[in-house]
Amino acid sequence: MQRLSYLAGYSEKIVDQVRRLLAEGRLGDHLRQKYPAGHEIRTDRALYDYAVAIKNEFLRTAPPLSKVRYDGRINVINDALGLHTFVSRVQGGKLKAKHEIRIAALFKETPPEFLRMIVVHELAHLKEKSHDKAFYQLCNHIEPAYHQLEFDLRLYLTYLEAVGPLYIA
Ligand SMILES: [Zn+2]
Repeated sequence: MQRLSYLAGYSEKIVDQVRRLLAEGRLGDHLRQKYPAGHEIRTDRALYDYAVAIKNEFLRTAPPLSKVRYDGRINVINDALGLHTFVSRVQGGKLKAKHEIRIAALFKETPPEFLRMIVVHELAHLKEKSHDKAFYQLCNHIEPAYHQLEFDLRLYLTYLEAVGPLYIA
């Protein structure tokens, strides 16, 4: 039986439904119907502006972002979906904190909803470091469909792994 690594943690019933969609060749259409279009946020500059706009709306008091960029070296399975690094260094006798967000490069090609979900996830780490209740509450506050989007992103990644690229407009 096919192991679906992106769906570890979901119930066997749900995983079986996804296996069936895959076996019947229907997972791609299911995803395309729900998420028919891509997005235009392709450059690091555009990604930075996009993340800062969400931050300014929902996380005004969180520390500023020094960098936001796509990273082609992020392995989505092993490193989770994005990376949030917090670097403190002493500069001229002062402790300076830098917050950088790196988003796996595959998100250049996903529907905009998945990009938003992952950016919201990484922005929420500015305030909440661990994946606890407070963290997910914050994600849901910024994006009310957060949990559904995370599940559908996992379906999307399952499709990429099992079948190949999902072609959207
Ligand atoms: Zn995280």
